[in-house]
Amino acid sequence: MLQLLNIQTTPTALVARLRMPADWRVLSAQQAEALLCQLPTLAEHACKSGGATRFGERIVGALLPHAVEHVAIDLLVRRFPGAGAISGNSVRLNNTEMQVRISRCSSVAPQAVARALRDAVQMVNDLRAPCHSSSNIP
Ligand SMILES: [Zn+2]
Repeated sequence: MLQLLNIQTTPTALVARLRMPADWRVLSAQQAEALLCQLPTLAEHACKSGGATRFGERIVGALLPHAVEHVAIDLLVRRFPGAGAISGNSVRLNNTEMQVRISRCSSVAPQAVARALRDAVQMVNDLRAPCHSSSNIP
């Protein structure tokens, strides 16, 4: 499971530290599809990672914390439609840990941003659950 180690609130952002599982670092095509099914607007997010312009171009193979960043932003935009632009980035700290930063905006309380980050981690972790297990097919 992707683990949320801590969330720090700074004057300009909320910064979450996440530990990636050793055996699962990136989204597969199937997991990306499942995530886009829940949050179709993810594909349209601006994303500068690896020379991309939209997150939809990068979602397959995206590192899990990078997916958490975009899911958290998507949840915030849905929950606070009038909040304006919310931005973020994710940075690799070492082999197993990454930092996800979500910028603060005056109309969204830090607690709401923290909640969106926790919900995003849960949603990404749920992608691993075998919800369409082929073992049920006789
Ligand atoms: Zn991105």
